[in-house]
Amino acid sequence: MRRRADAAGGHDAIVVGAGHNGLVAAFYLARAGLRTLVLERRGIVGGACVTEEFAPGYRASPGAYVLSALRPAIWRDMALRARGLRVSPAGPSLNLFADGASFVLRNSDAETADEIRPFARADAGAFAEFKREMAAIGGLLFPTMDGPPGPMRIGLRAARRRGVAERAAELLTTSARRYLDARFESEHVKAALGWDAISNTLAGPSDSGTGVALLHEHAADPSGAVPWGFVPGGMGEVTRMMADAAREQGAEIRTEAEVARVVVRDGRARGVELCDGSSLRARVVVSNADPKRTFLGLCDPADLPARFRGAIRAYRCQGASFKLNLALSGLPALAGRRSPGDEHRGLIQVTLPLAEMDRQQDDARRGVPAVDPHLEVCFPTVHDPSLAPEGGHVVTVGARSQPYALAGDGWDVIRDRVADRVVEQLGRFFPDLPSMVVGREALSPLDLERRLALTGGHHLHGDMLPDQLFLLRPVRGAAGYRAPIRGLYLCGAGTHPGGGVTGANGRNCAGVVAADLRRRRVRGGSAGG
Ligand SMILES: Cc1cc2nc3c(=O)[nH]c(=O)nc-3n(C[C@H](O)[C@H](O)[C@H](O)COP(=O)(O)OP(=O)(O)OC[C@H]3O[C@@H](n4cnc5c(N)ncnc54)[C@H](O)[C@@H]3O)c2cc1C
Repeated sequence: MRRRADAAGGHDAIVVGAGHNGLVAAFYLARAGLRTLVLERRGIVGGACVTEEFAPGYRASPGAYVLSALRPAIWRDMALRARGLRVSPAGPSLNLFADGASFVLRNSDAETADEIRPFARADAGAFAEFKREMAAIGGLLFPTMDGPPGPMRIGLRAARRRGVAERAAELLTTSARRYLDARFESEHVKAALGWDAISNTLAGPSDSGTGVALLHEHAADPSGAVPWGFVPGGMGEVTRMMADAAREQGAEIRTEAEVARVVVRDGRARGVELCDGSSLRARVVVSNADPKRTFLGLCDPADLPARFRGAIRAYRCQGASFKLNLALSGLPALAGRRSPGDEHRGLIQVTLPLAEMDRQQDDARRGVPAVDPHLEVCFPTVHDPSLAPEGGHVVTVGARSQPYALAGDGWDVIRDRVADRVVEQLGRFFPDLPSMVVGREALSPLDLERRLALTGGHHLHGDMLPDQLFLLRPVRGAAGYRAPIRGLYLCGAGTHPGGGVTGANGRNCAGVVAADLRRRRVRGGSAGG
């Protein structure tokens, strides 16, 4: 069934972008027998899931650093394990506070309850109940990742499990702060459980809808088949192997091939025009670029309904994280400890009370980046020393409340100042760290946009809050991967079920495209798509 494109016939599908979702989509499209071509603007595949050298001998990702949500079907179908993909499990998560308090979220809930007890006795019991609730809601919502969003899928399941549906409704509509206030006493515990509310948005933990973030962080996927942790060789290994799998199915991947626009004739996408001026024909075009870039950048305004363009313009896609990769001459110990320990194997949160996060996010919305923000920190070289020269280490830091749109000086002016301040902040917790820095890569939201083509520097191609999820992702009327232009589809993180290295978007989209093309074939190639 596999066929190659000839110069006259063009391709069945052109995928714009070789992010992990573009590669997954290409794999499934080629596997369905479709002549598939992937066009990537960068010289490497992987999008926000790559491994690159950032200082001599030091490698890290400018984007994703842990594998936490890859869908089991993709792991299996692409034979990623057989290709050599390994995951080194992450250690427990350490939470560090400016007032000197600290505690660990352990992999065992009983041990975590012991850590929580000194902060508030009642919170230890509340934690067990909280985890049960997250597991139940996760059991309801995680399976919806593996197909296009649909009211019936959720509605029927919800009807069967009424109690859980009510709890899910609460979580999806309330704020992280209110949800946690209702269950916990200690501000430290609430901060350690609720910081994810500000991870990829300018909303504060007190804003309605941020409750959903608790699910991302605390609900285990019931399918549980893919381990979560650090990938030896870095996250680029995931996309390198995905590209191999797609090529084996017959997909062609071209790098340094930037698409300038989607060619539309008679209301249907017919192919693409590249930035070098060449054109390529295809029966369908599948965009892995984010929704704003796709519809406002690659499409002619005349080809889209004005109301749809308005909705895409209003789609929230402003990044608020600053990424810092530091090349270190050694591994710094925590303050008060003589040597590095188990905590270096997990994700470390340098965090602050939820009320303070609210205040910093307020400032960020006004264009003022936070000083001493929440930091997420990890040491990938503890899992794979080959990412640094002998004895050296990499520390990867994500600083929150750093808005793309600044009120004062631009990112090109303040980038180094912000990076210096983050190193200083880290030095309060790892006193030897500042003197160990031998190189660095500082990526503001503007740099992420320039380098990775993430509009607004948004990690997830748009906020993942309830008004931009499920049937509303990216916007009402375009949630099932089909664009308002026939033959044009969206397969990236800006579609259901959202961002993160899941591959679900690419797989779900490929299913929709293949079904539409089958229908068109049956109808003689005149409709569908
Ligand atoms: C700093 C950062 C940290 C993150 N950390 C994690 C993490 O630890 N774990 C996790 O699971 N997720 C993480 N994420 C999120 C995750 O990386 C993304 O959600 C995911 O990689 C998006 O994949 P995608 O394939 O949908 O899109 P992308 O990876 O954005 O891929 C889109 C591709 O399209 C290409 N493209 C765009 N326009 C064109 C064009 N005109 N022509 C040709 N090509 C084009 C781009 O170059 C890119 O390769 C992080 C993201 C960032 C930025």
